Amino acid sequence: MSKNLALQLDKYMPPPVLALIKIAGKEADELGQELYLVGGVVRDLFLNRANFDFDLVAEGDAIELARKMAKGSQAKLTVHSSFGTAKLNYPGFSLDLATARSETYSKPGALPTVQPGSLKDDLIRRDFSINTMVLHLNPQRFGELIDLYHGKDDLEHRLIRILHPKSFVDDATRILRAIRYEQRLGFKLEAETEKLLRSNVAMLDTISSDRIRHELELILKEDEPERAIRRAEELGVLGQLHPSLKGNGWLSKIFIKARQVDKRASLSTLYLCLLIYNLTEKANEKFISRLNFPKSSSQAMCQTLQLKAQVRSLANPKLKPSDIYQLLQGYSAPAIQANSLTAESSTVNQHLQLYLAKLRYLKPLLKGDDLKKMGISAGPKIGEILDALHKARLNGEVKTRGDEERLANSLRQKQSD
Ligand code: ATP
Ligand code: MG
Repeated sequence: MSKNLALQLDKYMPPPVLALIKIAGKEADELGQELYLVGGVVRDLFLNRANFDFDLVAEGDAIELARKMAKGSQAKLTVHSSFGTAKLNYPGFSLDLATARSETYSKPGALPTVQPGSLKDDLIRRDFSINTMVLHLNPQRFGELIDLYHGKDDLEHRLIRILHPKSFVDDATRILRAIRYEQRLGFKLEAETEKLLRSNVAMLDTISSDRIRHELELILKEDEPERAIRRAEELGVLGQLHPSLKGNGWLSKIFIKARQVDKRASLSTLYLCLLIYNLTEKANEKFISRLNFPKSSSQAMCQTLQLKAQVRSLANPKLKPSDIYQLLQGYSAPAIQANSLTAESSTVNQHLQLYLAKLRYLKPLLKGDDLKKMGISAGPKIGEILDALHKARLNGEVKTRGDEERLANSLRQKQSD
């Protein structure tokens, strides 16, 4: 008797999604197609972890099914004909539908050639056994588990297992994915998988910059990315991305500290700045070009090292706020935060934090137009007075608008003397 998880689905799925996948199963049936819920959501159902990626695979034609479902519903339909996939966007969630397909790899690391196939074909192209469990959605078999690659056993034994020995050669991004799942779930690489992973680390060189970077970004989005980074070093994977990268205890501690100070969207960039903190500028540039980081990250990474070379000048406790501003203006927040987290001198740290929390936001109340209205003629003089007002504000020498007007007037007189 195969296992049926209809009751678990009832409890686990948000009700509107459950209602829709039942309709999907029924409509697939009417079209003579078999429909399955696949991938991470089935794995996470067993693990009782939330997952809002609802992936469906149809043996037949997923686009035809998606069109049928979109008709008369409020869903927005997006179709990718060349991939045989479609997305239905409902308010608050979406369903991804894919036509079951088989893949062949012309050479290691290349994108695969794809043609329609059976469920079994579709599953063998996947990464790990725990991601191959599917639930049947057609009405007569609703909730029935299909587990062709023993994913349930591996889940119970907490193992990450590839599906065939050539898996990492076909697609070495799976090396990074294996580490990410292992560390996220607290599982172990199955022995043969670990052996093959270690012996195929060099296959990462066959993967394009963008695909490697995408997998690293996924790691950095994990709750505790330092676990995967450390494991990647241990397996020789981090060194393959750049020989100078380290995932040692220092990095773990600093990542944990980073989460405490920075809970916002820029955390991934901050992690990157910390990851490269002990690299030379040259090594950093090589790493940036290997992974083709976008400007927003690469700039912060380069600035981290530029600031690191200068940061000692912030150790002087007599510095005025305007001196601190002068030194730090132009550096992005993650570069400054990275140097603050790694700072050994508490004075340096205080100065960096003063800039981040306060100085970078301070601006004079008077603008150029206000000065013109006060009768100061346009030209370089206005700029000089604005700079002086800014400096005075940073140093707490002016508080009110009146203070600024008095200062502007006295400067005007001084300059016209
Ligand atoms: P996550 O919780 O990280 O989102 P997921 O299982 O949903 O896990 P996705 O990255 O959303 O993972 O991918 C969806 C499915 O596609 C996975 O379950 C996996 O089986 C498959 N997959 C993704 N990338 C690969 C790959 N490089 N090789 C083989 N299969 C892959
Ligand atoms: Mg997913």
